[in-house]
Amino acid sequence: MKKRQTQARVPRCKKCGAPAVIYMRQHRLALCETHFQEWFVNYTQRTIEKYHMFGPEDRVLVAVSGGKDSLALWDVLTQLGYRADGLYIGLGIDEGTQYSQRSLEAVRGFMAERPGLRLYVVDMKEAYGETIPELARRVRRGRGKPCSVCGLSKRHIMNELALREGFDVLVTGHNLDDEAAVLFQNTLRWQTGYLARQSPVLEATHPGLVRKAKPFCRFYEREVAAYAIVRGIEYQYDECPFSVGATTIYYKELLNQLERHSPGSKFQFYTQFLKAKKKGLITFHEPEGEVVLRPCRICGQPTTAGEICAFCRMWVRPDMDLEEAKRSVPSLTFRVETSESEEG
Ligand SMILES: [Zn+2]
Ligand SMILES: [Zn+2]
Repeated sequence: MKKRQTQARVPRCKKCGAPAVIYMRQHRLALCETHFQEWFVNYTQRTIEKYHMFGPEDRVLVAVSGGKDSLALWDVLTQLGYRADGLYIGLGIDEGTQYSQRSLEAVRGFMAERPGLRLYVVDMKEAYGETIPELARRVRRGRGKPCSVCGLSKRHIMNELALREGFDVLVTGHNLDDEAAVLFQNTLRWQTGYLARQSPVLEATHPGLVRKAKPFCRFYEREVAAYAIVRGIEYQYDECPFSVGATTIYYKELLNQLERHSPGSKFQFYTQFLKAKKKGLITFHEPEGEVVLRPCRICGQPTTAGEICAFCRMWVRPDMDLEEAKRSVPSLTFRVETSESEEG
């Protein structure tokens, strides 16, 4: 019998030698469950510092959807000691699927095991009188797919709530797969304006805008999923039913094919882009004269769309005067839920 027969090589944790649960080719790093959790939390902190996202004194608002990325992010920021509250927007995507309902339940389940968390809940139907599917059916922008109306509404609500409640930064759970897919899409079309703005942190360039950051932008999606699993986070597994066939999903599949042939390529594609931009090796400019931001006459949020921003316009008819228009746009309402503190 040969000596070194068939025993499959189990990767060993680089820190302690125990069997590894994950091997990250782009870092040449295998880790056991314990050391992977530790590494994941520390690497998030390094990303926050590397891109100057926020500091220990800042109030952080985490956009939580109930999916793995946003819940894992909230979990990590809490472990790191940041003052991080959650924001959940109830989109009302429930027809036949209960998608939004199940998402909120995932967020509440997460909070129930973590005392002392605060969650802002904005319900589209309660605040604005219409769910996202209803809004999309009514306004021209929503024809076909509600994703455009949904993205617009979420951006508007997140920004307004963050500013109104005095948060210093809004964070989202976008991971490297998300960022690489957007970068790929924008590069294929040489969308220079988008390429100029794609960044792990977006400064508040205008008093009506909140700073935005993506602390998970250097994690592969599978790493975030692994973290959520080892932490026992019960997240909403399903994607939004409207996202089926979305262009970004197609680009993600292409990049995954590339990754299989050439491991680490997603990581290189994204991080080398950021590095080259930072060093000034590649520069992109916004199209001249087109990026004048003015406050919306109704809500005050900066807009490039003229007098009234695209969000407010969903409630305004062209024949309305300004006073009538102001009365027609519903104002943001929300409630706050807290998970019981340990003493309680
Ligand atoms: Zn270990
Ligand atoms: Zn507006």
